[in-house]
Amino acid sequence: MTASSELIAKAAATRSLSRGELIELLSDDDCNEALFAAADDVRRRYVGDGIHLRALIEFSNICRNNCCYCGLRRDNRNIKRYRIDADTIFNLAEYAARNMGLKTIVLQSGEDMFFDRDKLCDIIRRIKTLDVALTLSIGEKTAAEYKAYKAAGADRFLLRIETTDRDLYHRLDPGMNWQNRRRCLADIAAAGLEVGSGVMVGLPGQTIESLADDILFFREINADMIGIGPFIPHPDTPLKDAAGGTLEMSLKVMALTRLLLPDINIPATTAMETLAPDGQTKALQAGANVIMPNVTLTQYRRHYELYPGKSTTNYTPDESLKVLRDKITGINRFVATDKGFHHQTKNGKA
Ligand code: SAH
Ligand code: SF4
Repeated sequence: MTASSELIAKAAATRSLSRGELIELLSDDDCNEALFAAADDVRRRYVGDGIHLRALIEFSNICRNNCCYCGLRRDNRNIKRYRIDADTIFNLAEYAARNMGLKTIVLQSGEDMFFDRDKLCDIIRRIKTLDVALTLSIGEKTAAEYKAYKAAGADRFLLRIETTDRDLYHRLDPGMNWQNRRRCLADIAAAGLEVGSGVMVGLPGQTIESLADDILFFREINADMIGIGPFIPHPDTPLKDAAGGTLEMSLKVMALTRLLLPDINIPATTAMETLAPDGQTKALQAGANVIMPNVTLTQYRRHYELYPGKSTTNYTPDESLKVLRDKITGINRFVATDKGFHHQTKNGKA
């Protein structure tokens, strides 16, 4: 056995790798297929063959922040800004739950201050009458706000740390503070919400070492869900000329995350699918067990351009769902029918 294949076997058996070992595996591209196969096996043993579908509603593309990588950054004047009203948000959620049979609704937006605590809690309460799990992905809030969302019925919150390299974070997120984002993740957990986080792979200046730190960070925060996607440069941002991340490296970071956190939920991200037509299928066979079909109306969706080419932008929600179901059955997996909460296995053991 090569050194890398020994490390992969060790990780699959002990669910543990040191920083140095992670760096070794991230640097060796000859081991990729073995790594993906090991992550696929761990995924099957710990969370099974069911794939959880989460209905994504991108309800506002208005954002007070200016993240250098993101097409929704406030200085981008080339996009048409929109905000979907509360009734329409509810109707989209209702359609996803009743007509499409989806069990989780994810509400995502820029940091749009119009949706204050009261407005959001009203929307949360209405959506929770649909017997679904509800996830929010709306950025940095106060501890009291996270608690209020939980009290109104929210179940989970997604807030990617983006990178654990603080200097890189501060270069790419002007006006924002890494420690505050970390504080938010702690407050989300303290509020009793499931914690979702994650990073982008291939940010300009990001090192292999910091990707290893990212993976260890996911374990440190006891994440319930981790989403990993390649950074894709957007033409209307300061990073327009950057190289961007690769599917291969994103899959590696994801697969290693599955080995170290065997029972969590891991989505096959849309950014992976954007880089290659089989990106999501590859992810589902390298550790992922979740997909987030977009149910936002096409008229809004094309303006929610975090990065260019978001793969399914021209599909209606029903068309996207059909494509997904075919993909899932095509690799001998099935759509799970429960709400897909994170079930922590004892000591991470199956
Ligand atoms: N405003 C919220 C949620 C919307 S952004 C927030 O920032 O948390 C959701 C995610 O999109 C971000 O966390 C980031 O990881 C990702 N993203 C933004 N720009 C991207 C790009 N150019 N390429 C890939 N992913 C990007
Ligand atoms: Fe706003 Fe989120 Fe984009 Fe940053 S990543 S600009 S917070 S939408």
